[in-house]
Amino acid sequence: MPNNVILGAGIAGISAGYHLKQKGIDSVIYEKDNDWGGLCGNFTIGDFRFDRFVHFSFATDENDKSLFSASTGMIEHIPFPSNYYKGFWLRHPAQNNLAPLPIQEKVDIITDFVNRPQKDISNIVTYDEWLRVQYGNYFAEHFPFVYTKKYWGVSADKLETKWVGIRMYTPDLRQVLQGSYSTQDECFYFAKKMLYPKKGGFKSILNKCREGLDIKLNHKVIGINAQDKIITFANGNSITYERLISTLPLPEIINMLPDVPQEVKHAVDGLHWTCGYQVSLGFNRPDVAKYLWFYIYDQDILSARVYSPSLKSSDNVPEGCSSLQAEIFFDCKAKILDKKEVLENTISKFIEMGLFKKEDLIVQDIRFEPYANITFVPSIYKHRQIIIDYLKTLGIESIGRFGKWDYKWTHQAFADGKEV
Ligand SMILES: Cc1cc2nc3c(=O)[nH]c(=O)nc-3n(C[C@H](O)[C@H](O)[C@H](O)COP(=O)(O)OP(=O)(O)OC[C@H]3O[C@@H](n4cnc5c(N)ncnc54)[C@H](O)[C@@H]3O)c2cc1C
Repeated sequence: MPNNVILGAGIAGISAGYHLKQKGIDSVIYEKDNDWGGLCGNFTIGDFRFDRFVHFSFATDENDKSLFSASTGMIEHIPFPSNYYKGFWLRHPAQNNLAPLPIQEKVDIITDFVNRPQKDISNIVTYDEWLRVQYGNYFAEHFPFVYTKKYWGVSADKLETKWVGIRMYTPDLRQVLQGSYSTQDECFYFAKKMLYPKKGGFKSILNKCREGLDIKLNHKVIGINAQDKIITFANGNSITYERLISTLPLPEIINMLPDVPQEVKHAVDGLHWTCGYQVSLGFNRPDVAKYLWFYIYDQDILSARVYSPSLKSSDNVPEGCSSLQAEIFFDCKAKILDKKEVLENTISKFIEMGLFKKEDLIVQDIRFEPYANITFVPSIYKHRQIIIDYLKTLGIESIGRFGKWDYKWTHQAFADGKEV
């Protein structure tokens, strides 16, 4: 009988297994998919490799960094993303790099920035007000309002603001004016360096940690009896456990438990998150990808963000080729967007944008992810606490991005595994 059971072989689960092993404690990890890695995983089509969504490591802890780089070494990228807006390309952040825009639009943006509502940021409750106070009305309405809907699946007035942290840049007037005359060379991104493995896609950061771990693939958990400590799998197997660490999404694990109190069910109903499509495209030319990643503000283009696996590492494509992956998100509780429509919209709009020609495209693929981003509606903190507290009463330790229901990067999900 395995004593320590971990559910999910993403970075949080692998980290928990690895750190237990460091202490001489065995564990068994159960994973529903036929491969380990979770969102850090990847897939290949021919010789093209695509990660499951954009992934760079922002890890700062030196031990974690050397563990992540131990397998293949890392490429250091300086983050210079771009923005696509009504046919113009603006370096990121857009408000600091308005130079390519028509004069009238620059005037509208800068005038509203100067006249933006004055309010103490700490007193602001909704994200739409936060955006107006930070950027002024014109920019807020034409850039982040539109992007919010595409990325978070809801409008900015539905979001609170605690999640923002260092993620959004606050410009000053000198920078805005400077950038409206000529594009700035300064990197304004919140991280000044991002790491990506030289070989094997992003999941290579876990190669060392997963060595020697007992990972049982194709084991989808469907039931947990916390009273008798029994887990049942979709393949008909069941096991008992003494300690249970879960990285499964909160709405999923609650559904697996019998006799869940009404208050907890109600809290689950109050959770919001986005699902996402990955549209992965491979090209027979080396020069399609111009930017490591870029954001798209136009509403008629479904994709919110596009990045280039081939620029992350040339190991992700055959020689002489390049690749892009577009991310399309939507509220998981809304109607799921049609796969075929999303693929067609992405390819045709990208051709219109001049990114590539039809004859350049040699690989196209679309995949669905049921959990992408946690949506920070105001009730999130109360609801997730109720659920996590309930799991604790059952002796279940819930960790990771979807187990703690938080906006976590990979190194933070890894830290969860270490902590537990
Ligand atoms: C669009 C997007 C872009 C991102 N970009 C970055 C980035 O650039 N840099 C960065 O650091 N972070 C990034 N992240 C965040 C990063 O992906 C996560 O923090 C991290 O991968 C979460 O790891 P996890 O182990 O907590 O969850 P997961 O990776 O989701 O692992 C959970 C595991 O549980 C398994 N599972 C689920 N249900 C069951 C079941 N019933 N039975 C058995 N197993 C099950 C899943 O298959 C999965 O393998 C991004 C996330 C998204 C969505």
